[in-house]
Formats: sequence, structure tokens, C-alpha cells
Amino acid sequence: MIKVEEAIAIIEANSTKMPTKNISVRKALGYVLAEKVISPINMPPFRQSAMDGYAFTHSIRHQYDVVGISQAGDHSNIKLKATEAIRIFTGAYVPDDADTVVMQEHVMANKDSILIATMPEKLSNVRPKGEQIAKDEVVFEANTLITPAAIGFLACLGITEVEVYKKPKLAILVTGNELVQAGEKLKKGKIYESNSVMLEAALQTIGIEKTKVYRVKDNLKATKKALQGILKKYDIVLISGGISVGDYDFVKEALLQNDVKELFYKINQKPGKPMFFGSKNETLVFALPGNPASSLTNFYIYVAPAVKNRIGYSEIHKPKVVRKLNSEIKNNTGKTLFLKAKYDETSVTVLDGQSSAMLNTFAVANSLLIVPEDIENYKKGQLVTLLPID
Ligand code: AMP
Ligand code: MG
Repeated sequence: MIKVEEAIAIIEANSTKMPTKNISVRKALGYVLAEKVISPINMPPFRQSAMDGYAFTHSIRHQYDVVGISQAGDHSNIKLKATEAIRIFTGAYVPDDADTVVMQEHVMANKDSILIATMPEKLSNVRPKGEQIAKDEVVFEANTLITPAAIGFLACLGITEVEVYKKPKLAILVTGNELVQAGEKLKKGKIYESNSVMLEAALQTIGIEKTKVYRVKDNLKATKKALQGILKKYDIVLISGGISVGDYDFVKEALLQNDVKELFYKINQKPGKPMFFGSKNETLVFALPGNPASSLTNFYIYVAPAVKNRIGYSEIHKPKVVRKLNSEIKNNTGKTLFLKAKYDETSVTVLDGQSSAMLNTFAVANSLLIVPEDIENYKKGQLVTLLPID
């Protein structure tokens, strides 16, 4: 049995980056850049007006003749005398002779002239060429996650394609004779299968949209055969259940018989102790406990960072938060505890119902409170560490 920190480190060391590919910027949301991006242009490409108003050369004078118009999209490089201004609109080209734009609310306008009532400072309301980024500057470093704003920025620079890490192909293998799918009749002794549904949803929150689900009964031969096919086709395999020490838990044996290298088995934690992590070639295998709350806990602690590492994220662990504890916690297990908890701006409450079989508490939790294995108790009012969850 290994410690939580050791398990995290082993997973991190073994989750190699995926190969890369070119992708259209329009489709790049949630991918991570595999190389830095350089700007092909200045942004803005020319001096732009930031306001609807009048462009002129700043001086002590307040009265100007209006001698032309520059609308967004125009390129009128009109010559302006010191006594002249032009009507200008937001986003429009500022003539080279003008250095300042006064907003229209600050002038009194007649037919062909203006009187500036509130004089702006020199250079006001003119966006300099290259203010956001200059040509040949770095737009994004490698390993930047592509967000909607990043897509907008790439698009405004005219960039249509970027090099990203591929997303891993991911399969979930569900084991258990007792499981039926929602929609089917629930016969005596059976329960609805929920782990694959839950894990698919959790994967979507970290950018894995498509997951293939396979199902097997608690049978060594069937499990071994199913894994044989799955291991060839996928980059990451999650297995649900069958990894504990019961007479009908065949997953570990089926993995070893498929030449999956064991990297660890069992972690000193509660819930989520019976977990296997291994690899075959570049494929990572996580055999997660069948108990739903354990399965999801281990997804957040181990699977999510591994998937993020393969996708190329620079930050694979969610930032933890620290809050004041609303009650006392005792830990006489010698194990690291992950407690379903709810935190607000100032404090955190441990929720009732911590059983690894129960999802009702998890469904209303917004965090896992971490009690390290060597902590025997936390007092009320003490600061504790939490992993926020979505
Ligand atoms: P196991 O790890 O296979 O011994 O399963 C532990 C517990 O989790 C048992 O009560 C199972 O019925 C339950 N369980 C296992 N797999 C699932 C699943 N996919 N959906 C819901 N419950 C499950
Ligand atoms: Mg089982």
C-alpha cells in the first residue's frame, strides 16, 4: 500500500503527453497548445479611435473646422491643419496628422465646426498600433489551455490553425453482475449502473467529450477478453469495480494476464483504497473502486490530473483552497481522508453521510476536505485544505 502523495507522483511521472496535431482555431476550445504562437500582425493593425467623436491635433485651441469623416473600415488619410478636425467613429482609422480624439459628448457641434467643452488629455481615445500585441511577439506560450477568450484573440490576429496535443481516446469498462442500465426493469438483487454515467460526465468537465463504455460480467475470461481489445485501441482505460479482494473481483488478474504493468495497487486512503494503476505501452489503466463515491473521489484525485497531463496542461492540479473548519474531525484510521464537504467564503462544513457507497452527499458537496494520514484530529476553527470539485 502506498501513500496518496506517492500515488499522485507515480501517475504524474507516467502520464506522457499525447502526440500533436493541427486544428482549426474554431474547433480548438479545451485543447492545449503544443507550441508557442507568434503574432503575424500588429493588433490593432493601425491607430484606432476608441470613441465616437472627433480626431484632431491636441493644442490649446478649442474650436476646430470639421473637414471630413472617418468611419470604421475607412482608410482616409486626410491631411489636417492645426485648426481642423474630422468626425470619427469607434474602431476607425485615425489620420496620421491627428493625435487625440475627443468624445462627441464633450463637444458642441455646429454644421461644419466644433467647440470642445471638455478638453481631453493629449493622445486620449487613440488606441496605438500594436497596443495589444506587436507583429512577431509571442501570443501564447506552449501548454496554454485554449479558452473562448484565447480563441477570440487568435481569431482577431487572423490565425486559423494551431498545433495542439491530441485528446486521449478513453474507454470505461464496467464490471458487475448486479448492474442493469437505467431504462431497464430493476429485477430483485440488481442495481442501476451509475459509475460509467458519472465518470463520463466528470470527463466532460476536463475536455473529454467522447467516451466509449464497455460492460462485462464478473468473469475472469470475459474481463480478460474485453481488456485485450480495449488496451489496443485506447490511450486511457478506466475500469469500474472488481478491483477489491472479493471472490468475484477479477480485474487485477485480467490486467496482469494482458501484460499490463502494475505501477501501484491500493492507496492508504479512505474512501478509495482499492485502486490499481498500470500501463501498457503508452496506455494508462486506472482500475477504480466500484463504490460510486470512491470511484468519483479517485477520479478527482488521480484520473483528472493524469488526463490533463496527457492533454498538455501546465497546471494539472486544481488550486486547493483553505477554510476555517466548522466542526471537529477525528482521524483514527492512519489513512488520508477525503471528506465530502461544503465551503463558502469563510468556512467549511463536513457533510453527514461519508459512506463510500453513497452519492447523495457527494451530489451536494462542492469540495473534498483532505485530512492527511498523520493528522489525528482537527479542532473546530482550525484552517484546513480542500480540493474544490465541479
Ligand atoms: P466492487 O468494487 O465491484 O466490489 O463494487 C463495490 C460496490 O459498488 C458494490 O456495492 C457494487 O454493486 C457497487 N458498484 C460497482 N460498480 C458499480 C457501478 N458501475 N454503478 C453503481 N454501483 C456500482
Ligand atoms: Mg463488483
